[in-house]
Amino acid sequence: MTEKSKLQLNLLENAYDYLNSSLEYVVRAKTTDAQRLWKFAILHIAFCIELMLKERLRRAHELLIYATIDKFKPITRETKTAPWNIIVERIKYVMGNRFEEIDAGRLALAQRLRNQILHYDVELEFPTVYQDFSNLLNLVRELHKEIRESEEETLHQHVDHELLEEESALSEAFIEDIVHFNGIFMSKELRDDILDEQKQVKLLIDGEEYFRITFGSTDEWIDIDTNYSIYPCHDCAVIKGQIHLLGCDMERCPRCKEQLLSCGCNYEYLEPT
Ligand SMILES: [Zn+2]
Ligand SMILES: [Zn+2]
Repeated sequence: MTEKSKLQLNLLENAYDYLNSSLEYVVRAKTTDAQRLWKFAILHIAFCIELMLKERLRRAHELLIYATIDKFKPITRETKTAPWNIIVERIKYVMGNRFEEIDAGRLALAQRLRNQILHYDVELEFPTVYQDFSNLLNLVRELHKEIRESEEETLHQHVDHELLEEESALSEAFIEDIVHFNGIFMSKELRDDILDEQKQVKLLIDGEEYFRITFGSTDEWIDIDTNYSIYPCHDCAVIKGQIHLLGCDMERCPRCKEQLLSCGCNYEYLEPT
């Protein structure tokens, strides 16, 4: 066995532990469909992803995993590591173009699901949650390639024996149900919803027809950095020029220009003629 630092062992061992516990939750959630179990499955695979990202950063430089390094203090067990959003920004520098290729929207998906679970009352529904999980597991597989000891080492080798069947079922689900669309990996279902939504170009508000405001257009969030639209919409995954899925928190009301979700205007679809 090669010499490993204590920190590396902690990060890696914890990553594999969370991978296995997330798979255990999936197995149990599938049989009982309990919300609580799906939530833990998603949270644990998100922890696994975070730890793998930290290990990748640590390999570039150990200091990169810490929250603040701009004022010197000796590193101890109490030194705080960087939060998720900082880790994600740093990994982009460290991995460069490889990052976009591997990530393809999955970190945003993990972050969105994690935030929803931690901050809102969210319903995770099968099979959507299972597909999302298979998508995140595929990211774990790709990240593992970045931190493994040799080409022969597979993620598979780190999965507990009794969970191997579920692991391969999830790999199947990824191939079956996930597509690369709008530059990211998403479920076929979401892709079809986005394509259908593009037909609903107008909304009817108090008897008047309005053209909907598309993602990244000049009418949208002009007061914030317009760079946001180089990435797909954080809430509904459409790209610049596309119409948001109805109910997306980014869509602006074409009448009052406020957030459509909360502005209070009574909108409905205008059936295409
Ligand atoms: Zn959107
Ligand atoms: Zn309005």
